[in-house]
Amino acid sequence: MTVRVRFAPSPTGMFHVGGARSALQNWIFAKQHNGVFVLRVEDTDASRNRPEWTEGILAAMDWIGIERGAYEGPYYQSSYAAEHTAAATRLYGEGRAYYCDCTREAVALRATGKTPGYDGFCRDRGLPPGEKTALRFRTPDQGETVINDLVRGEPTFKNELLEDFVIARSDGSAVFLLANVVDDITMGITHVIRGEEHLPNTPKQQLLWDALGVKPPVWGHVPVIVNEKRQKLSKRRDKVALEAYRDEGYLAATMRNYLMLLGWAPSGDREIVPWSEIEAEYRIDEISHAPAFFDVKKLRAFNGDYIRALTASEFASVCAPWLNGTDTIPAPPWAPASFDISVFMAVAPLAQTRIAVLSEIVEYVDFFFLDEPTIDEASWAKAMKDGAADILDATAAAFSELPEWSAEPLKEALEAVGVARGLKLGKTQAPVRVAITGRSVGLPLFESLEVLGRDRTLARIAAARGRL
Ligand code: GLU
Repeated sequence: MTVRVRFAPSPTGMFHVGGARSALQNWIFAKQHNGVFVLRVEDTDASRNRPEWTEGILAAMDWIGIERGAYEGPYYQSSYAAEHTAAATRLYGEGRAYYCDCTREAVALRATGKTPGYDGFCRDRGLPPGEKTALRFRTPDQGETVINDLVRGEPTFKNELLEDFVIARSDGSAVFLLANVVDDITMGITHVIRGEEHLPNTPKQQLLWDALGVKPPVWGHVPVIVNEKRQKLSKRRDKVALEAYRDEGYLAATMRNYLMLLGWAPSGDREIVPWSEIEAEYRIDEISHAPAFFDVKKLRAFNGDYIRALTASEFASVCAPWLNGTDTIPAPPWAPASFDISVFMAVAPLAQTRIAVLSEIVEYVDFFFLDEPTIDEASWAKAMKDGAADILDATAAAFSELPEWSAEPLKEALEAVGVARGLKLGKTQAPVRVAITGRSVGLPLFESLEVLGRDRTLARIAAARGRL
């Protein structure tokens, strides 16, 4: 039997990191079993789906390494309406489902019995299909439904606690529970690996597999991802879109490595692990049963480590979107013609060791490419206190006479300005740094001055002097 797994996102928003994790888990599972990964877009909720969300999901999947062309599909659930209807008709024809005209309110009023939800009121009324009748699946009254789950073992559900659930609406269209099963059957899916939030659906869905005469898949329900307050990650509260992490400057390699560490650890006390090794080592059945904490601070540090491991040219190329702007990343504040790649390459190694996300590159290097630095007012207020004018004047005088314009003599000259005033280098440096870069933190100052050149350095000191 060929293993066939699927990832089945609903295009109702950006690509959630939990979805990305599910996709990667399925992807790895297929790889490890010489199987097939199928992408199915569950686009049947017309009121919530938008084509651009579908494109966003496909693009984000490409980015994280599940590339179009390397998997089967995408199939679109909306193209399988005929199969869904046929399955509903068949279940009705075989007496496995019946029509029900109870209103939601009536169902709620009567919901006092031991079966939560619907009480089976219409089970034996023999209603025909009609404009106001939904189709309900007749769940067994006895016995148990046992799920074979890679993560959870054998979750067992008492059938008497499963309500007769709706499988098709009054307009004949299938609801999620049925459409999802019919598609999995149509697509020959053998393993369903998905988020634990679907576990309550699973006994119902397994009953549908049985009723449709097909051996149910092996399931794998993966614990949810939570934030620092142990709340389930939600798009209203937390940053959950993979695209948002991408556009902030997280590397794809960071994201996929980090997502796989949620609830699982590679061998040898390592965290940064090449993807090829994760693909070989990852075991879905080793996943922790506890919710996994999505630690943004740790992710940030992790990304910094990944950035530092790049070669200089790799670093330059991953920075390019922030140096140029893209559809989703704003253009930098300098005019394109002012950008000088040789200046950038000269200072890039200094930035590479300091930034944690790539978007930060802009404020580290912008002062090289702007006519005047962008002044951060808080930095200015802190640095330009009493004595700043004197320091700037003395520095300008020392710098203009410097025989060699390079980092070491620049530092010595500024140190001498400080010594003459009983100041440490840090204090002496502060107003100069803000005059040159506009900010109180950034690249090493003297290396930056060396690259910026004497004329521009002196002009900036003079401008700051004028602003004081
Ligand atoms: N479209 C469903 C979701 O996004 C798919 C659930 C499943 O994987 O079966 O939650």
